[in-house]
Amino acid sequence: MERLSREDAKKRVHAAGLRATAPRVAVLRLLAGSKKPLSHTEVVDAIGSDDWDQATLYRNLLKLVDADLARIANRVDGIARYEARGEDDSPHLHPHFSCRSCGAVECLPDAKLTGPVDRRWHRSLSTSDLQLTGECPDCLKAQSATRKKRATKRRRS
Ligand SMILES: [Zn+2]
Ligand SMILES: [Zn+2]
Repeated sequence: MERLSREDAKKRVHAAGLRATAPRVAVLRLLAGSKKPLSHTEVVDAIGSDDWDQATLYRNLLKLVDADLARIANRVDGIARYEARGEDDSPHLHPHFSCRSCGAVECLPDAKLTGPVDRRWHRSLSTSDLQLTGECPDCLKAQSATRKKRATKRRRS
């Protein structure tokens, strides 16, 4: 995650050979500032307006991916989630965790995959998704609370 100023976002879009249109710059800034990858719907919810409808924002998401400024971080249940590529994060190897219970998707930037010694795989890895599925901390907490409640009930009866 990084805060990306409008000027820097414009520069990045230009450097990738694209025109720095207002929605494009806004989408890139939104992705860069987000702690987790965002779906198209989440992008529309955040910055959609009369001028920037769903289709416009979707086109710009795809453009950013084409230009390597963003990537599809993962697909859970057929929903693609996008994130910005930082300037220094290629290959982007941090895993994404998706919760089986609530569907939340988070980046785990601190959890790094150690690349294989065989360098031929490094490029392939940079195109791959590292996807973990399990129960997120919130759901685990909720589950253990329910379990505790049940245990207390059982003891009382
Ligand atoms: Zn969860
Ligand atoms: Zn990520």
